[in-house]
Amino acid sequence: MKNIQAIFVLMVSLCICNSWTFGRELKAYVPVFPRELEKSFNVDPNKGYLIKEIRKDVYILTDGIYQSAVITSGKKVILIDAPLSLGKNIKKAVSEVTNKEIGSLIYTHTHTDHIAGSQFLADIKGLNIIADEQAQKYLKEIKDPTRLLPTEIIRNKKLTIKAGSLKIQLNSMHNYHSSDGDLFVYIPERKFLMVIDVLAPGYVPFKGLDLTTNVHGYRKIFDTILSYDFDIFLGGHLTRLGGRKDVEVAKAYVEDLYQTVKRIHNSTDISASMCNTARAVGWNNKYLLFKVFLDEVTTKATKEIEARWIEKLGGVDVWAKSHVETMLVYVRWD
Ligand SMILES: [Zn+2]
Repeated sequence: MKNIQAIFVLMVSLCICNSWTFGRELKAYVPVFPRELEKSFNVDPNKGYLIKEIRKDVYILTDGIYQSAVITSGKKVILIDAPLSLGKNIKKAVSEVTNKEIGSLIYTHTHTDHIAGSQFLADIKGLNIIADEQAQKYLKEIKDPTRLLPTEIIRNKKLTIKAGSLKIQLNSMHNYHSSDGDLFVYIPERKFLMVIDVLAPGYVPFKGLDLTTNVHGYRKIFDTILSYDFDIFLGGHLTRLGGRKDVEVAKAYVEDLYQTVKRIHNSTDISASMCNTARAVGWNNKYLLFKVFLDEVTTKATKEIEARWIEKLGGVDVWAKSHVETMLVYVRWD
């Protein structure tokens, strides 16, 4: 009996100790900058969303992490993306700002998190869903009931929609993030540009350079974005809208990342690294020898990137290592 009690006490102490260590490790991350908290959208957690006019007849709809857009200038409302996390609230949110019906939904790309909220719009009669041809092909193949199928295709990668006095320019010739293509939404009269999953204003990109499937396309996209005449940028995440400056800063971060990883990779002697590892464990485990070399490059590059960017952008200590790993694949193999 005494033994059982002792084991129980030991297990409880281990749990407390683990959660204390876990909490201490998490608290070591740099807290969100007060300057970002001040600029963030104030989303009521009980309501779960915020809809706000950012330019005349152009609204942002956000839950504080995901962002979509609502255009009310035409006879019917046009939605751009339907994030899953906002899905249940989309109709309610739109009805707060207009009596018009939702007529169209535009998909920027096929990822579930940005369009699976469409399942909550399935009962809207005659809903026109616009997407790129390649995106439609993919969605037809996967037959996912949460992502409604497009009803109108963007042929030849470009389409301009008239919405009252506004022209909404869609351009789906881009390929920086999703393997099925990415769509830009531009409203020149409002200098509004929506480019999803490339950057989060005030923060570094999400894990793996925003989960890109094409690092080369991703590196080039910042110049393409900056070639547009815009002053308000909606990136799909995180806590606020951006402007030209945010795109320039993200471009500088990605370029620094590329140059840093390339320099450290090219100046690290792979043979010396493998010989050194082999002296400790022998030559049989080739994967391990190679991993140690890649880890060496990753550790050095991450340290440099963190030192240069930790005070400039949020989340550097959270995602810089994953950015280095993604860039290392590009530098060494692509
Ligand atoms: Zn995505």
